[in-house]
Amino acid sequence: MSQIFANTLYMQILNNIFSSSLHLFYPHICTGCGSDLVQKDNLLCLRCINELPATNFAQHANNPIEKIFWGRIPLVAACSQYYFVKDSLIQHLIHLLKYDGNKEIGIYLGELMGQSLINSNYYRNLDALIPLPLFPDKERKRGYNQATVICEGISNSMQVPVWADVVTRQKFTETQTKKHRTERWENVSESFIVKDAGKLRGKKILLVDDVVTTGATFEACGNALLKVEGIQLSIAALANAAK
Ligand SMILES: [Zn+2]
Repeated sequence: MSQIFANTLYMQILNNIFSSSLHLFYPHICTGCGSDLVQKDNLLCLRCINELPATNFAQHANNPIEKIFWGRIPLVAACSQYYFVKDSLIQHLIHLLKYDGNKEIGIYLGELMGQSLINSNYYRNLDALIPLPLFPDKERKRGYNQATVICEGISNSMQVPVWADVVTRQKFTETQTKKHRTERWENVSESFIVKDAGKLRGKKILLVDDVVTTGATFEACGNALLKVEGIQLSIAALANAAK
C-alpha cells in the first residue's frame, strides 16, 4: 500500500467515525418523510427529492409561466421550479417555510432551484436576485420574507448576489384604499416602490417569489422595476399554482 493511499484511507476512516458520531448526537432525518437515509448536507432523502413535481420550465422558452405574462409585461424569461400540488410534499415544505419558521428548507429548495437555473441558457449572466417584497408588517410578523430565503438558496447555487432592499412594498393609507377601491389592479401596481434605481440601471435581474398564481403581484412589482432604464427582467417562482 502506497503511503498516499494509506493516508487517504486513514483520513476517510477518521471522517466516517466523525460523521457517524455526529449522526448519533444530531440524528439527520429527511424533512419530507422522516427517513434517516439523508446524504450529507441534504435536507431531503433521494426519494423525496424525486417525488417533488419538477416542471423543467427553466429549460424551455414559451412555457406556461411565460405565457401568463404575455401581453402584460416584457420579460426575458420566466419559470417555476415545481408544480404546486395540493396536499403533497411540496405544499408541506412551502408551509414549513412560510408558517413554521423553517428557513433551512427554503434555502435548500432555493439551492435545488438554482441548480436548474444554472443549467438553463435563459438565466445566464444575472446581476442580481430580487425577492418579491412582502408588506412590511407581514414581514415583521413572520420575521423574514420567504422569497428572500429562497433567493439565498438560489444564490448559493448560482453565485449571484441577493438585492433585498432595492424595491419595497408599501401599505396603503385609508384614503388611498378608498380612492382605489374599484381599481384593485391599480392598487397592487402602485404599492411597489423602487428605492435604488441607480443600482438597477441596465442590470439583468431575476425577480423571485414562492408561488405564482395569477401573476398579478409579479406583474405589479415587475412594472415598478421596468421603469428603471435598461433593466432586463426575468421571473422565477418556486411553485406554480396557476389554474
Ligand atoms: Zn424523505
